[in-house]
Amino acid sequence: MNTPTHKIHIITLGCAKNTVDSEALHSQLRGNDFELTENMNNASVAIINTCGFIEEAKKQSIETILEAVKRKNEGKLQHVYVMGCLSERYHADLQREIPEVSGFFGSNDQPKIVSALGGNYKYELLGERALSTPRHYAYVKISEGCDNPCSFCAIPLMRGTHRSKPIEQIMSEVMKLVAKGVKELIVIGQDTTYYGLDLYGSRKLASLLRSLATVKELEWIRLMYAYPAKFPLDVLDVFAENPKICPYIDIPVQHASDEVLKSMRRGITRRAVTELIGKIRSAVPHIALRTTLIAGYPNETESDVNELIEFMREIEFDRLGVFTYSQEDDTAAYALGDPIPQEEKENRRARLMEVQRQISIRRNEEKIGSVVRAVVERKEDGVFAGRTVWDAPEIDDEIFIAGSERHPQESGRSRSGASAPEREMFNLSAGTFVDVLVTDATEHDLYGKAVHQS
Ligand code: SF4
Repeated sequence: MNTPTHKIHIITLGCAKNTVDSEALHSQLRGNDFELTENMNNASVAIINTCGFIEEAKKQSIETILEAVKRKNEGKLQHVYVMGCLSERYHADLQREIPEVSGFFGSNDQPKIVSALGGNYKYELLGERALSTPRHYAYVKISEGCDNPCSFCAIPLMRGTHRSKPIEQIMSEVMKLVAKGVKELIVIGQDTTYYGLDLYGSRKLASLLRSLATVKELEWIRLMYAYPAKFPLDVLDVFAENPKICPYIDIPVQHASDEVLKSMRRGITRRAVTELIGKIRSAVPHIALRTTLIAGYPNETESDVNELIEFMREIEFDRLGVFTYSQEDDTAAYALGDPIPQEEKENRRARLMEVQRQISIRRNEEKIGSVVRAVVERKEDGVFAGRTVWDAPEIDDEIFIAGSERHPQESGRSRSGASAPEREMFNLSAGTFVDVLVTDATEHDLYGKAVHQS
């Protein structure tokens, strides 16, 4: 077979699940001797891994496709290929409306993409990934698709029904990741709590986490996308018994009004969510809980918003994000229309985020004077930026660490009068795990100095 001449640039939009798919595709293309480039200007082929989750994400995906097509029309690209969720969902429409695209592929069509480029899909490379994250952390996708009936969600339309990956396959993938230097593993799926039910007939997330915790090279294992209804409580035993499992769970609850939760088909009530969180916090003290809420769902009333605010104040999530409702065709909620104007949705989102801002600043200030575990991500103005064990990459808070060269005060970062700077105490770099004495806090960040490195 002739050596491919293409120079390929992959653009990844959307969530960490898309990141994993792009990394796997990168590995396949490299396995076919294609050249990959991080720089679009050097590329002859662009592959866009799209997101089709909500309106905002769809808009960004289409804009990115049109930009690439413009480059093709200007002769700067030979081919533009589109893959992922938006393409899975709107294949025919996109093909009709953007004929300049050389090929549209779904969210599970990697063999077709590789052969469209003139290569052969290499099954022996399954589980191999060309990491696009910093070397010290990586996502591991333990399943694909989702069987939950959430009325607002189009993901099952784009990713299909739930398919768990066999545990052996996950472990072999993880061993390849730690061989590349990965120390933090972020466990993802559409619904990680469902893991194993389709494949083994029962929920196996706890035993999967237990297996992952045996990997000695791993420092942190972080659980994301936990669906609250039917949460497997045996998972909490693994959290309690194993220090590698970060005291952190991303558990989207979406709302707290039973009327809204019922219409959303979330299969849970406010009371049951509160009880579950109580169980999680008593099993794993100091755990950080991240959640996601939706503002402006069709049947949401002013009193529902007030109930949600009351719930937020009662639970006090550590990390929280709010999406405004996006009416998605072919979802169960579509028939409810979209009665709440976007401006009012934004207003509700702002009210919820203001409540969270107050909670976040107080919870962060409570950490001043304590020593927290953190990983360094980068260096910025002589100070190291990192994440605590309570923060996932890209979506959560940061911690700014003094440990060598210049103290934050000199870089004008800290407001409180921390003690005289230590010099050259620690040899910090991206991927270093360090204990940090917290000296200052804002609503989204902590500040401190390194006290122990390991
Ligand atoms: S759990 Fe619900 S919101 Fe999440 S991917 Fe599945 S259907 Fe969508």
